[in-house]
Amino acid sequence: MSRVYNFNPGPSALPLDVLQTVQRELLDYRGTGISVMEMSHRSSQFEQINGQAETLVLENAGLSGNDYRVLFLQGGASLQFSMIPLNFLPPQSVADYVVTGSFAEKAHKEAQKIGRIHVAATTKESNYSTIPRQDELQFSEKPAYVHITSNNTIYGIQWPYIPDCGDAPLVVDMSSDILSRELDMSRFDLIYAGAQKNMGPSGVTAVIIRKSLLEKQRDDLPSAMLSYKIHADADSLYNTPCTFGIYIIWLIMQWVKDMGGVKVLGDINKQKADLVYGSIDASSGFYRGHAAKEARSGMNITFRLPDERLEKKFVEEATKAEMIGLKGHRSVGGIRASIYNAMPLEGCQALVSFMDDFARRNG
Ligand SMILES: *Cc1c(COP(=O)(O)O)cnc(C)c1O
Repeated sequence: MSRVYNFNPGPSALPLDVLQTVQRELLDYRGTGISVMEMSHRSSQFEQINGQAETLVLENAGLSGNDYRVLFLQGGASLQFSMIPLNFLPPQSVADYVVTGSFAEKAHKEAQKIGRIHVAATTKESNYSTIPRQDELQFSEKPAYVHITSNNTIYGIQWPYIPDCGDAPLVVDMSSDILSRELDMSRFDLIYAGAQKNMGPSGVTAVIIRKSLLEKQRDDLPSAMLSYKIHADADSLYNTPCTFGIYIIWLIMQWVKDMGGVKVLGDINKQKADLVYGSIDASSGFYRGHAAKEARSGMNITFRLPDERLEKKFVEEATKAEMIGLKGHRSVGGIRASIYNAMPLEGCQALVSFMDDFARRNG
């Protein structure tokens, strides 16, 4: 077996321990004689997996099941861009969006098709290298909700604080940094994340929603599939969910817990990011980080080299050195190292020795 360090932005690396458990249980899940893939979503075994996955997501997030539900939906984080305004933006209201990157732009664009939207701030003019400060956020009078994107996966910027938006429900796209650092998650009313970055495989979107918000949803939705309340009442089993994906999320939630929880992972993630940013900062301008220092992402580290030829060479040589997935997104160019929870410290150490050596040889 030959595993490489996987810096892919998503789908991305999964913990090896979890993959090995999946492999062990693939043909005969804990004495059932069948695979989880072959199991009814209505079976008691699957209901257990589903229920425990919800409980562990809440536990790892530091939230109480009295106040929140966790839903496992399909359609990606991208469907949430529509579901949120469909459910929570009534015709006479306005929703506020803070636009800090490409996915935030998409969320904003989809919401505009559904209702009245106000942009509370955008950092497009800095080419998404910054996050607005609290005093730069201009909320509307009484927004139906405020939407932010906690980590910009493509440009590599992350909110260093949770904005205060008064009484308005705070909705966050946390696809690329959920459970990666200690945060007061109870500041949010709806948290959503495509699982394929920090929680599991592609095919499932986790939605953590405050129960009291469920009561406020619109009742004129065109499809039951678009209703959070229907999914919540059915424990995510209104229709057939992505059962195998939910199973892997459950295993990963156990792994997070076994690692010591989000606080411990957050400390490791900080060490990982500090190493890579340290190499950028010590390179005398050979590597140029995209993000402003105070907005640097702990998950997606983006940087440029002196020219595109060197960037191509960097990716090729890194691949030969068994580090893959480092090519930046086409809209930013350069290099992006995605270092989600499942990337071990050793992976970042290997990347940094490669970076230091590459700069010495080519600088
Ligand atoms: C990846 C990503 C998305 C898109 O997720 P899909 O599951 O592919 O729809 C949305 N928002 C953020 C912040 C992302 O990183």
